[in-house]
Amino acid sequence: MAVRVEVPKYRIEDRVELPRKESAVIVVDMQNDFVNEKGALFVPTAPATIKPIRKLLDKARDAGVRIFYTQDTHYDDDPEYRIWGEHVRYGTWGWEIVDELKPREGDIVIRKTRYDGFYGTPLDDLLRVYNIKNLVITGTVANICVLHTAGSAALRWYKVIVPMDAISALTDFDYHAALRQIHFLYRGTIVKSVDSIIFK
Ligand code: ZN
Repeated sequence: MAVRVEVPKYRIEDRVELPRKESAVIVVDMQNDFVNEKGALFVPTAPATIKPIRKLLDKARDAGVRIFYTQDTHYDDDPEYRIWGEHVRYGTWGWEIVDELKPREGDIVIRKTRYDGFYGTPLDDLLRVYNIKNLVITGTVANICVLHTAGSAALRWYKVIVPMDAISALTDFDYHAALRQIHFLYRGTIVKSVDSIIFK
């Protein structure tokens, strides 16, 4: 049975100012398996987010804002393979972060085994070490790893900011449902694009 529903309205901001020393950008799972059309779990709208994410990273680097990546990582017989098929197997091409967004020196890459970037990783500890309070969350997949990471951040009282042009999902419903949830439930700030974010 198919059910049709409308996604309730959520607020979209034109501009948000963030203190550079207390803010970080997180790039979620922008790996070949998800972002390259030859990847095992390709998200067709993900390649279009590369440019905006790059722009945001350039802006963050210029402002001295810390940059984190999550890298979904699975090994032999991971139970997730039963849900999604084999993907991002450790050490393979599909596991690697796309060339266009390769982490640079000083960026921190967090390997994670589940949807949530905080689950079983040192992410929370590192954010606290650096006194980060605001997280600009980008990447894929909007309603899976982006949403889980945003939710987990909000439960730890980080302020979450999501630029609409920097996340991607398999369907429009998934995309808007994730944004609605981040806005409504996790009290995150949804901004129109990466241009809406000012580091001051
Ligand atoms: Zn996975």
